[in-house]
Amino acid sequence: MTNKELIEKLNKDKSLEKSQWVKLISSFSENDALFAKKLARKIADENFGKSVYIRGIVEFSNYCKNDCTYCGIRRSNKNCERYRLTKEEILECCDEGRKLGFMTFVLQSGEDKTYSTAALCDIVKSIKKKHPDCAVTLSLGEMEYADYKALFEAGADRYLLRHETASKAHYEKLHPEEMKFEKRMECLENLKQIGFQTGCGMMVGSPFQRAEDLAEDMLFISRFKPHMVGMGPFIPHKDTPFAAEKAGSVELTLFLISLLRIMLPKANIPATTALGTLHPLGRELGVQAGANVVMPNLSPTAVRKKYALYDNKICTGDESAQCINCLQSRLKNIGYEIKISRGDYENV
Ligand code: SAH
Repeated sequence: MTNKELIEKLNKDKSLEKSQWVKLISSFSENDALFAKKLARKIADENFGKSVYIRGIVEFSNYCKNDCTYCGIRRSNKNCERYRLTKEEILECCDEGRKLGFMTFVLQSGEDKTYSTAALCDIVKSIKKKHPDCAVTLSLGEMEYADYKALFEAGADRYLLRHETASKAHYEKLHPEEMKFEKRMECLENLKQIGFQTGCGMMVGSPFQRAEDLAEDMLFISRFKPHMVGMGPFIPHKDTPFAAEKAGSVELTLFLISLLRIMLPKANIPATTALGTLHPLGRELGVQAGANVVMPNLSPTAVRKKYALYDNKICTGDESAQCINCLQSRLKNIGYEIKISRGDYENV
Protein backbone atom coordinates (compact mmCIF):
# COMPACT_ATOMS: atom_id res chain seq x y z
CA MET A 1 0.00 0.00 0.00
CA THR A 2 1.15 3.56 -0.60
CA ASN A 3 1.40 5.93 2.33
CA LYS A 4 -1.69 7.73 1.11
CA GLU A 5 -3.58 4.44 1.12
CA LEU A 6 -2.32 3.71 4.62
CA ILE A 7 -3.64 7.07 5.82
CA GLU A 8 -7.01 6.30 4.20
CA LYS A 9 -7.02 2.88 5.84
CA LEU A 10 -6.29 4.48 9.21
CA ASN A 11 -9.23 6.80 8.68
CA LYS A 12 -11.51 3.87 7.90
CA ASP A 13 -10.34 1.25 10.44
CA LYS A 14 -8.90 3.60 13.13
CA SER A 15 -5.89 1.30 13.33
CA LEU A 16 -3.01 -0.12 11.32
CA GLU A 17 -0.70 -3.12 11.62
CA LYS A 18 2.67 -2.52 13.23
CA SER A 19 4.57 -2.93 9.95
CA GLN A 20 2.23 -0.41 8.33
CA TRP A 21 2.87 2.11 11.10
CA VAL A 22 6.61 1.61 10.69
CA LYS A 23 6.41 2.17 6.95
CA LEU A 24 4.25 5.27 7.27
CA ILE A 25 6.38 6.84 10.00
CA SER A 26 9.72 6.08 8.37
CA SER A 27 8.91 6.94 4.75
CA PHE A 28 6.29 9.72 4.67
CA SER A 29 6.81 12.52 2.16
CA GLU A 30 5.81 16.17 2.36
CA ASN A 31 2.80 15.30 0.23
CA ASP A 32 1.77 12.50 2.56
CA ALA A 33 2.00 14.91 5.50
CA LEU A 34 -0.13 17.43 3.61
CA PHE A 35 -2.71 14.76 2.80
CA ALA A 36 -2.85 13.64 6.46
CA LYS A 37 -3.06 17.23 7.64
CA LYS A 38 -6.01 18.09 5.40
CA LEU A 39 -7.90 15.00 6.48
CA ALA A 40 -7.04 15.54 10.16
CA ARG A 41 -8.12 19.16 10.09
CA LYS A 42 -11.38 18.24 8.38
CA ILE A 43 -12.05 15.78 11.20
CA ALA A 44 -11.08 18.35 13.83
CA ASP A 45 -13.34 20.96 12.19
CA GLU A 46 -16.25 18.50 12.23
CA ASN A 47 -15.77 17.91 15.96
CA PHE A 48 -14.58 21.27 17.24
CA GLY A 49 -15.16 23.78 14.45
CA LYS A 50 -12.67 26.63 14.38
CA SER A 51 -12.45 26.60 18.17
CA VAL A 52 -9.46 25.76 20.30
CA TYR A 53 -9.77 24.87 23.99
CA ILE A 54 -7.41 26.44 26.48
CA ARG A 55 -6.00 24.85 29.65
CA GLY A 56 -4.06 26.91 32.17
CA ILE A 57 -1.05 25.09 33.57
CA VAL A 58 0.03 25.77 37.13
CA GLU A 59 3.49 24.27 37.61
CA PHE A 60 3.38 24.18 41.38
CA SER A 61 6.58 22.35 42.30
CA ASN A 62 9.76 21.35 40.51
CA TYR A 63 10.99 19.03 43.26
CA CYS A 64 11.11 15.51 41.90
CA LYS A 65 12.05 12.16 43.36
CA ASN A 66 12.52 10.69 39.90
CA ASP A 67 15.55 10.83 37.69
CA CYS A 68 14.26 10.63 34.12
CA THR A 69 17.30 11.02 31.92
CA TYR A 70 15.71 13.55 29.57
CA CYS A 71 14.14 15.86 32.13
CA GLY A 72 15.63 19.10 33.44
CA ILE A 73 13.97 18.79 36.86
CA ARG A 74 15.33 15.26 37.50
CA ARG A 75 16.50 14.83 41.07
CA SER A 76 20.19 14.65 40.22
CA ASN A 77 20.19 18.05 38.50
CA LYS A 78 21.95 20.08 41.17
CA ASN A 79 21.72 23.24 39.04
CA CYS A 80 17.95 23.25 39.20
CA GLU A 81 16.73 25.88 41.62
CA ARG A 82 13.82 24.22 43.39
CA TYR A 83 10.54 25.84 44.42
CA ARG A 84 7.14 24.92 45.76
CA LEU A 85 3.93 26.93 45.64
CA THR A 86 1.60 27.00 48.64
CA LYS A 87 -2.05 26.14 48.41
CA GLU A 88 -2.86 29.87 48.53
CA GLU A 89 -0.48 30.62 45.67
CA ILE A 90 -1.97 27.82 43.56
CA LEU A 91 -5.47 29.17 44.24
CA GLU A 92 -4.37 32.66 43.24
CA CYS A 93 -3.12 31.33 39.89
CA CYS A 94 -6.50 29.68 39.30
CA ASP A 95 -8.41 32.82 40.33
CA GLU A 96 -6.40 34.86 37.87
CA GLY A 97 -6.86 32.18 35.23
CA ARG A 98 -10.62 32.20 35.68
CA LYS A 99 -10.66 35.98 35.16
CA LEU A 100 -8.72 35.47 31.94
CA GLY A 101 -11.28 32.94 30.68
CA PHE A 102 -9.70 29.63 31.65
CA MET A 103 -12.13 26.90 32.68
CA THR A 104 -9.58 24.11 33.04
CA PHE A 105 -6.68 24.26 35.47
CA VAL A 106 -3.88 21.78 35.03
CA LEU A 107 -1.84 21.23 38.17
CA GLN A 108 1.53 19.86 37.17
CA SER A 109 4.64 19.12 39.21
CA GLY A 110 7.59 16.87 39.66
CA GLU A 111 6.94 13.86 41.87
CA ASP A 112 7.12 15.86 45.06
CA LYS A 113 6.00 13.70 47.94
CA THR A 114 5.97 16.57 50.44
CA TYR A 115 2.43 17.23 49.23
CA SER A 116 0.47 14.41 50.86
CA THR A 117 -2.51 12.97 49.05
CA ALA A 118 -4.70 14.61 51.69
CA ALA A 119 -3.08 18.00 50.99
CA LEU A 120 -3.53 17.54 47.24
CA CYS A 121 -7.18 16.55 47.76
CA ASP A 122 -7.66 19.67 49.83
CA ILE A 123 -6.19 21.82 47.03
CA VAL A 124 -8.44 20.15 44.43
CA LYS A 125 -11.53 20.59 46.64
CA SER A 126 -10.72 24.24 47.25
CA ILE A 127 -10.34 24.95 43.53
CA LYS A 128 -13.59 23.15 42.73
CA LYS A 129 -15.41 24.96 45.52
CA LYS A 130 -14.26 28.35 44.28
CA HIS A 131 -14.72 27.51 40.61
CA PRO A 132 -17.46 24.88 40.42
CA ASP A 133 -17.91 25.42 36.69
CA CYS A 134 -14.26 24.60 35.97
CA ALA A 135 -12.37 21.36 35.42
CA VAL A 136 -9.23 20.31 37.26
CA THR A 137 -6.61 18.23 35.49
CA LEU A 138 -3.76 16.67 37.43
CA SER A 139 -0.32 15.82 36.08
CA LEU A 140 1.58 14.62 39.13
CA GLY A 141 3.18 11.42 37.89
CA GLU A 142 2.82 7.94 39.29
CA MET A 143 0.77 7.21 42.40
CA GLU A 144 -0.98 4.26 43.98
CA TYR A 145 -4.55 3.36 43.04
CA ALA A 146 -5.93 4.60 46.37
CA ASP A 147 -4.30 8.02 45.90
CA TYR A 148 -5.67 8.43 42.39
CA LYS A 149 -9.08 7.35 43.64
CA ALA A 150 -8.98 9.87 46.50
CA LEU A 151 -8.05 12.67 44.10
CA PHE A 152 -10.89 11.70 41.78
CA GLU A 153 -13.31 11.68 44.68
CA ALA A 154 -12.00 15.09 45.74
CA GLY A 155 -13.25 16.35 42.39
CA ALA A 156 -10.33 16.12 39.94
CA ASP A 157 -11.75 15.53 36.48
CA ARG A 158 -8.79 14.57 34.34
CA TYR A 159 -5.28 13.15 34.66
CA LEU A 160 -2.35 13.45 32.28
CA LEU A 161 0.35 10.84 32.52
CA ARG A 162 2.41 10.52 29.39
CA HIS A 163 3.48 6.94 28.86
CA GLU A 164 6.67 8.48 27.31
CA THR A 165 7.26 5.41 25.11
CA ALA A 166 5.25 2.23 24.69
CA SER A 167 8.31 0.10 24.07
CA LYS A 168 9.73 -1.43 27.26
CA ALA A 169 13.29 -1.60 25.92
CA HIS A 170 13.13 2.06 24.90
CA TYR A 171 11.54 3.05 28.22
CA GLU A 172 14.50 1.51 30.01
CA LYS A 173 16.91 3.63 27.98
CA LEU A 174 15.16 6.82 29.10
CA HIS A 175 14.67 6.00 32.78
CA PRO A 176 16.75 4.70 35.66
CA GLU A 177 16.26 1.12 36.71
CA GLU A 178 13.95 1.93 39.61
CA MET A 179 11.36 3.33 37.22
CA LYS A 180 9.31 0.52 35.76
CA PHE A 181 7.55 0.50 32.42
CA GLU A 182 4.89 -1.85 33.79
CA LYS A 183 4.15 0.55 36.65
CA ARG A 184 3.60 3.47 34.26
CA MET A 185 1.20 1.39 32.17
CA GLU A 186 -0.60 0.13 35.27
CA CYS A 187 -1.07 3.72 36.46
CA LEU A 188 -2.70 4.61 33.13
CA GLU A 189 -5.07 1.65 33.36
CA ASN A 190 -5.97 2.62 36.93
CA LEU A 191 -6.64 6.24 36.00
CA LYS A 192 -9.00 5.23 33.26
CA GLN A 193 -10.74 2.64 35.39
CA ILE A 194 -11.29 5.14 38.21
CA GLY A 195 -13.08 7.41 35.77
CA PHE A 196 -10.66 10.20 34.98
CA GLN A 197 -10.58 11.62 31.48
CA THR A 198 -7.15 10.17 30.93
CA GLY A 199 -4.28 11.42 28.82
CA CYS A 200 -1.17 9.57 27.71
CA GLY A 201 1.48 10.60 25.22
CA MET A 202 5.07 10.39 24.14
CA MET A 203 7.99 12.56 23.19
CA VAL A 204 8.87 12.57 19.52
CA GLY A 205 12.54 12.12 18.73
CA SER A 206 13.67 11.15 22.21
CA PRO A 207 17.13 9.54 22.26
CA PHE A 208 17.24 5.96 20.92
CA GLN A 209 13.72 6.23 19.50
CA ARG A 210 13.20 4.29 16.26
CA ALA A 211 10.18 4.17 13.92
CA GLU A 212 9.36 0.80 15.55
CA ASP A 213 9.04 2.50 18.94
CA LEU A 214 6.69 5.17 17.57
CA ALA A 215 4.72 2.37 15.91
CA GLU A 216 4.37 0.78 19.37
CA ASP A 217 3.16 4.15 20.69
CA MET A 218 0.49 4.37 18.01
CA LEU A 219 -0.56 0.76 18.62
CA PHE A 220 -0.77 1.38 22.35
CA ILE A 221 -2.82 4.55 21.82
CA SER A 222 -5.20 2.78 19.44
CA ARG A 223 -5.76 0.06 22.08
CA PHE A 224 -5.90 2.34 25.12
CA LYS A 225 -8.19 4.94 23.54
CA PRO A 226 -7.15 7.85 25.75
CA HIS A 227 -9.34 10.93 26.05
CA MET A 228 -6.29 13.16 25.60
CA VAL A 229 -2.90 12.72 23.99
CA GLY A 230 -0.06 15.08 24.92
CA MET A 231 2.76 14.71 22.48
CA GLY A 232 5.63 17.05 21.81
CA PRO A 233 9.16 16.92 20.46
CA PHE A 234 12.02 15.96 22.75
CA ILE A 235 14.26 18.96 23.44
CA PRO A 236 17.62 18.49 25.20
CA HIS A 237 18.27 20.11 28.57
CA LYS A 238 21.83 21.24 29.24
CA ASP A 239 22.09 19.69 32.71
CA THR A 240 20.97 16.18 31.78
CA PRO A 241 22.88 13.21 30.34
CA PHE A 242 21.03 13.91 27.07
CA ALA A 243 22.41 17.46 26.81
CA ALA A 244 24.19 16.75 23.52
CA GLU A 245 21.34 14.84 21.89
CA LYS A 246 19.40 16.21 18.95
CA ALA A 247 15.91 17.64 19.38
CA GLY A 248 12.95 15.85 17.82
CA SER A 249 11.63 16.78 14.39
CA VAL A 250 8.87 19.37 14.05
CA GLU A 251 7.67 17.78 10.78
CA LEU A 252 7.39 14.32 12.34
CA THR A 253 5.58 15.71 15.38
CA LEU A 254 3.07 17.50 13.13
CA PHE A 255 2.56 14.38 11.01
CA LEU A 256 1.92 12.30 14.14
CA ILE A 257 -0.58 14.90 15.43
CA SER A 258 -2.47 14.46 12.15
CA LEU A 259 -2.38 10.67 12.43
CA LEU A 260 -3.60 10.87 16.04
CA ARG A 261 -6.49 13.09 15.03
CA ILE A 262 -7.45 10.68 12.22
CA MET A 263 -7.30 7.76 14.66
CA LEU A 264 -9.07 9.51 17.58
CA PRO A 265 -11.50 12.07 16.10
CA LYS A 266 -12.77 13.36 19.46
CA ALA A 267 -9.61 13.25 21.55
CA ASN A 268 -8.27 16.41 23.10
CA ILE A 269 -4.87 16.88 21.51
CA PRO A 270 -2.74 19.90 22.49
CA ALA A 271 -0.33 21.81 20.31
CA THR A 272 2.38 21.73 22.98
CA THR A 273 4.73 24.35 24.35
CA ALA A 274 7.65 22.15 23.27
CA LEU A 275 6.43 22.40 19.68
CA GLY A 276 6.21 26.19 20.08
CA THR A 277 9.75 26.17 21.46
CA LEU A 278 11.27 24.40 18.45
CA HIS A 279 9.42 26.45 15.84
CA PRO A 280 8.23 30.08 16.13
CA LEU A 281 4.83 29.04 14.76
CA GLY A 282 4.86 25.55 16.27
CA ARG A 283 1.57 25.81 18.13
CA GLU A 284 -0.23 27.31 15.15
CA LEU A 285 1.15 24.53 12.95
CA GLY A 286 0.01 22.00 15.56
CA VAL A 287 -3.57 23.34 15.40
CA GLN A 288 -3.44 23.31 11.60
CA ALA A 289 -2.24 19.69 11.74
CA GLY A 290 -5.27 18.66 13.82
CA ALA A 291 -4.68 19.70 17.44
CA ASN A 292 -7.60 21.35 19.30
CA VAL A 293 -6.04 22.45 22.59
CA VAL A 294 -3.39 24.92 23.73
CA MET A 295 -2.03 25.00 27.24
CA PRO A 296 -0.71 28.41 28.25
CA ASN A 297 1.15 28.86 31.49
CA LEU A 298 -0.59 30.24 34.59
CA SER A 299 2.38 29.84 36.93
CA PRO A 300 3.64 32.97 38.69
CA THR A 301 6.24 34.67 36.48
CA ALA A 302 8.75 34.49 39.32
CA VAL A 303 8.98 30.68 39.14
CA ARG A 304 8.44 30.02 35.45
CA LYS A 305 12.09 29.82 34.46
CA LYS A 306 12.68 27.27 37.20
CA TYR A 307 10.25 24.76 35.73
CA ALA A 308 12.67 24.00 32.93
CA LEU A 309 12.04 20.50 31.61
CA TYR A 310 14.09 21.41 28.53
CA ASP A 311 16.17 24.35 27.28
CA ASN A 312 14.78 27.60 25.82
CA LYS A 313 11.18 27.00 26.91
CA ILE A 314 8.98 29.81 25.57
CA CYS A 315 6.75 32.21 27.52
CA THR A 316 8.79 31.99 30.74
CA GLY A 317 9.13 35.76 31.03
CA ASP A 318 5.49 36.62 30.49
CA GLU A 319 2.52 37.34 32.70
CA SER A 320 -0.45 35.00 32.28
CA ALA A 321 -2.51 37.77 30.70
CA GLN A 322 0.20 38.40 28.11
CA CYS A 323 0.30 34.70 27.23
CA ILE A 324 -3.39 34.43 26.61
CA ASN A 325 -3.50 37.63 24.57
CA CYS A 326 -0.55 36.49 22.50
CA LEU A 327 -2.13 33.10 21.81
CA GLN A 328 -5.45 34.66 21.01
CA SER A 329 -3.93 36.81 18.28
CA ARG A 330 -1.76 33.97 17.00
CA LEU A 331 -4.83 31.76 16.62
CA LYS A 332 -6.83 34.57 15.07
CA ASN A 333 -4.10 34.95 12.46
CA ILE A 334 -4.75 31.40 11.27
CA GLY A 335 -8.55 31.65 11.48
CA TYR A 336 -9.19 30.05 14.87
CA GLU A 337 -10.52 31.35 18.16
CA ILE A 338 -10.22 30.39 21.77
CA LYS A 339 -13.36 28.81 23.15
CA ILE A 340 -14.30 29.68 26.72
CA SER A 341 -15.46 26.29 27.95
CA ARG A 342 -14.33 23.34 30.07
CA GLY A 343 -13.78 21.46 26.84
CA ASP A 344 -14.52 17.99 28.16
CA TYR A 345 -14.13 14.85 26.12
CA GLU A 346 -17.50 14.05 24.64
CA ASN A 347 -19.28 10.78 25.50
CA VAL A 348 -17.28 10.11 28.64
N1 SAH B 1 5.99 14.48 36.89
C1 SAH B 1 4.87 14.47 35.97
C2 SAH B 1 4.95 15.61 35.00
C3 SAH B 1 6.13 15.47 34.10
S1 SAH B 1 6.57 16.85 33.13
C4 SAH B 1 4.81 13.12 35.29
O1 SAH B 1 5.65 12.28 35.54
O2 SAH B 1 3.88 12.88 34.54
C5 SAH B 1 5.51 16.65 31.74
C6 SAH B 1 6.10 16.04 30.50
O3 SAH B 1 7.18 16.80 29.98
C7 SAH B 1 6.72 14.67 30.65
O4 SAH B 1 5.75 13.67 30.70
C8 SAH B 1 7.62 14.56 29.42
O5 SAH B 1 6.99 13.88 28.35
C9 SAH B 1 7.86 16.02 29.03
N2 SAH B 1 9.30 16.32 29.05
C10 SAH B 1 10.18 16.15 30.06
N3 SAH B 1 11.43 16.45 29.66
C11 SAH B 1 11.35 16.80 28.36
C12 SAH B 1 12.30 17.19 27.38
N4 SAH B 1 13.59 17.27 27.66
N5 SAH B 1 11.85 17.51 26.15
C13 SAH B 1 10.54 17.43 25.84
N6 SAH B 1 9.60 17.05 26.72
C14 SAH B 1 9.99 16.73 27.97
